[in-house]
Amino acid sequence: AIPIYGVPGTARERTFIAVKPDGVQRGLVSDIIGRFERRGYKLVGLKLLVPSAALAKEHYADLSSKPFFAGLVDYMTNGKAPVIGMVWEGPSVIKQGRVMLGATDPKAAGPGTIRGDYCLSIGRNICHGSDSAESAQKEISLWFGGRGEVVSWASNNDEWVISDN
Ligand code: UDP
Ligand code: MG
Repeated sequence: AIPIYGVPGTARERTFIAVKPDGVQRGLVSDIIGRFERRGYKLVGLKLLVPSAALAKEHYADLSSKPFFAGLVDYMTNGKAPVIGMVWEGPSVIKQGRVMLGATDPKAAGPGTIRGDYCLSIGRNICHGSDSAESAQKEISLWFGGRGEVVSWASNNDEWVISDN
């Protein structure tokens, strides 16, 4: 058995991807999930919740001194829409997940990225992705601590998606 946060640098690498409340409210959940599915990544964790303030503050602990922190926590936790939390698995999923999201500021995000295609403001940038193996470990453990919430499974597509040749 592997840890719930996977094995970085292998085909079992895992990352935490979230659709933020604006992405849920705007009906972008299926599009965002679909992009990861079609790429060949494997969904191993999925939940819908309004996160507690404690969870959001811990998730964004590195930003606690920033002027936008209180607004960021409110945006994530006020319950006007839930968050979709996911764990995705596959080769280079941490780095490629960030590439697929696009730049933090959507005004700088390229077309073809989620943010570049669907949003305009840094404060409403619709999605989150872990920025490193350390962040992925922290975030997966934080959002998916419960028993059985991350599922290791063999996809019948694995042999068609993953080869070292
Ligand atoms: N954020 C914001 N204003 C800023 C910078 C960041 O509202 O000036 C928010 C935005 O939602 C961003 C999140 O804080 O996605 C986390 O910031 P980070 O720099 O970690 O960007 P990310 O990893 O999400 O691309
Ligand atoms: Mg970040």
